[in-house]
Amino acid sequence: MVADTANAPRPSASSSKSVRFRIKRQDRPGEAARWEEFVVDVEPGANVISCLQQIARMSKTAEGQATTPVCYDSGCLEEVCGSCAMVINGKARPSCSALVEKMADASGTITLEPLSKFPVVRDLAVDRSRAFHNLERLKAWVPVDGTYHLGAGPKDTPENQETRYTLSTCMTCACCLEACPQFNLEENADKWDTEFVGPHAISQARLFNMHPTGSTLAGERLDVLMAKGGVNDCGNAQNCVKVCPKEIPLTESIAAIGRAVTVHGVKKFFAGR
Ligand code: SF4
Ligand code: SF4
Repeated sequence: MVADTANAPRPSASSSKSVRFRIKRQDRPGEAARWEEFVVDVEPGANVISCLQQIARMSKTAEGQATTPVCYDSGCLEEVCGSCAMVINGKARPSCSALVEKMADASGTITLEPLSKFPVVRDLAVDRSRAFHNLERLKAWVPVDGTYHLGAGPKDTPENQETRYTLSTCMTCACCLEACPQFNLEENADKWDTEFVGPHAISQARLFNMHPTGSTLAGERLDVLMAKGGVNDCGNAQNCVKVCPKEIPLTESIAAIGRAVTVHGVKKFFAGR
């Protein structure tokens, strides 16, 4: 979402205000974390990521101590790529759509921490590889690779298209994984394949199982979702759906996949597979 600021009056210097950022910092993977504070002059309508751009240029903390640039991930700056997700005042959310005036507490302070369910690379930047690996586990794609002529695309109903559009807005920001009590930090990649896939991956499996061509891999996806780490590992706490910035109906997806897994299991039983 991008605000239309083309005709907005330019804020005067006096309309900016000082906001204190408390940032959890870590120089490298495995190193102890520390807190540093920075004060930024913020103009009306500013988001957290624009303040981080200013903070990254600062060589001193609010207390005047020399420091290094704060590191964070960002890409599109308009809530599409998902890379700038972090914990802001205790809640996971993309920092590009977090408006400073809504975030600052009564003392004018905003607290930033890296997502806790992924290994820290440096400061607020984390390695979200596991979230993408879990999409691979579920073959979250439409299989169209090949040199053959694909012909016209298959037809789909407007109702299906509408549901699939909503599901397709997932940006793998991992906010739902940060909120999910069943998804925990696991740095050992050997264990990823048996740990909970997460609500984002379950919802993407639903998306691609609903696609006329993507459904050719539905059985393989449901096999993974029946196994350890699949949909039955969801404890139904419903934290995920509350934090999704795209308002994706994650619990609806989990329920739909739960039903599909049951039907798939019964069919396999009677087919003797
Ligand atoms: S489902 Fe929502 S919260 Fe989870 S990764 Fe996708 S966009 Fe982010
Ligand atoms: S409903 Fe399931 S996936 Fe969502 S937060 Fe709870 S345990 Fe995690």
